[in-house]
Amino acid sequence: MPALRIHQFPCLADNYGYLVHDPDSGLTASIDSPDAEAIERELAGQGWKLDYILNTHHHADHAGGNLRLKQSTGCTIVGARADADRIPGIDLMVADGDSFTLGRHAARIIETPGHTRAHVCYLFEADRAAFVGDTLFSMGCGRLFEGTPAQMWKSLQKIMQLPDETRIYCAHEYTQSNGRFALGLEPENPALRARLQEVAALRAAGQPTVPSTLGTEKATNPFLRPASPALRAGLGLASASDTEVFAETRRRKDRF
Ligand code: ZN
Ligand code: FE
Repeated sequence: MPALRIHQFPCLADNYGYLVHDPDSGLTASIDSPDAEAIERELAGQGWKLDYILNTHHHADHAGGNLRLKQSTGCTIVGARADADRIPGIDLMVADGDSFTLGRHAARIIETPGHTRAHVCYLFEADRAAFVGDTLFSMGCGRLFEGTPAQMWKSLQKIMQLPDETRIYCAHEYTQSNGRFALGLEPENPALRARLQEVAALRAAGQPTVPSTLGTEKATNPFLRPASPALRAGLGLASASDTEVFAETRRRKDRF
């Protein structure tokens, strides 16, 4: 089975658009619809026709292009059943553990509440590609607009169970500022220092820092590292629970 093709492009201020294409069936899905015009342009550039939008959550920079794209392409809109009333034009409702297939490529739906109450991620397992929306960013995580720290930590733990080589496709290029925050918490982390150098070089060359891999995130992302003794010591939370350490890390990032 030929691999999925993933076409990535920047849009809006700092979003990434993704078109996922199965060369066998010719089917194409857009992960979210941040910018309908940009998505139409990229589809034309690839010579692909849009069959699906896979929504991660209802925010305007993720679902704002749904209705226009549905009208212009007749695509089917997939989103969380638990948020059906907030996903414009939803056709197909999914929940945790469901599977969506693009041709013969299966994506497992992982519910990750926290950023919003019904955020979902799409994991193309055979392709080792996870589209995580605003749940996990490179060296960061989404703000807790509708969920509690305990909920978000549980959601991130679901992602942490995936294989380390899983490519993490997040929805925003926030990596460099996330990295500055991370370095303040773990200044001696060698993996973090190496990643920051790599990120600085990529950005200086106008290149995306996304996708990273789950292995890299586990080594560098403070939101996946509440077990780190150095991070705990820096926060003054040596013997707190992982959830408490995660919550304090998120609080500090909100003020950063
Ligand atoms: Zn969002
Ligand atoms: Fe967003």
